Amino acid sequence: MRKRQSKKKLPPRETAEEALIQIVEGFKKFREVVFPEQQELFKRLASSQQPRAMFITCADARVVPELITQSSPGDLFITRNVGNVVPPYGQNNGGVSTAIEYAVMALNVQHIVVCGHSNCGAMRAVIDQNTLETMPTVKAWLRHCEVARTVVAENCGCLNEETLDVLIEENVIAQLDHLRTHPSVASRLASGHLFIHGWVYDIETGAIKAFDDEIGNFLPLDGDITPTATPRSRFIDRD
Ligand SMILES: [Zn+2]
Repeated sequence: MRKRQSKKKLPPRETAEEALIQIVEGFKKFREVVFPEQQELFKRLASSQQPRAMFITCADARVVPELITQSSPGDLFITRNVGNVVPPYGQNNGGVSTAIEYAVMALNVQHIVVCGHSNCGAMRAVIDQNTLETMPTVKAWLRHCEVARTVVAENCGCLNEETLDVLIEENVIAQLDHLRTHPSVASRLASGHLFIHGWVYDIETGAIKAFDDEIGNFLPLDGDITPTATPRSRFIDRD
């Protein structure tokens, strides 16, 4: 992973001072220009939130959920981590599991999106775990991607740069499976009150493909039908 990065032609890195100046200047612009323009919205949001979806994605700086879905403050309840991982229920009472339970039980979100992305460094590290020798915490976290790793290694015949895009997709499918082990999610899926979605965002083209549970493949999100990873509900018509 580090070797590849050193080969790329990146612009010279800004100094720490320059970086901070950019961030603070950005805040000043927000406070002086953007905030006054949307004052009514922020006033409405001051005391409550009712997000239209939970969005679980990678921490990668190039993925900006609000930008790619053109969402406003208050629209998305976002959880980000390295590799857009959802630990299976009961294994890890960490931030992701807590956020899922809160989003479903307290905020009553109707949609949960798990969004991976092209060129994901975490997935590249899943392929070449030698890069993680000095990062034991990342290594431990990415064990939640072991399912996807095995699926690709055994079904594609190899696990390398050539199959990175397949791994990225399989990781989204694996994390959707993990998502369904959470009781709050499973219950509302069964009753038809929650919908889950698995997306892969392409950084270079801006395209998104979404997993369709019925056909078992990824389709363009902006095609004729909107693909969904939601399984058929079992209780909705039994009242
Ligand atoms: Zn990533």
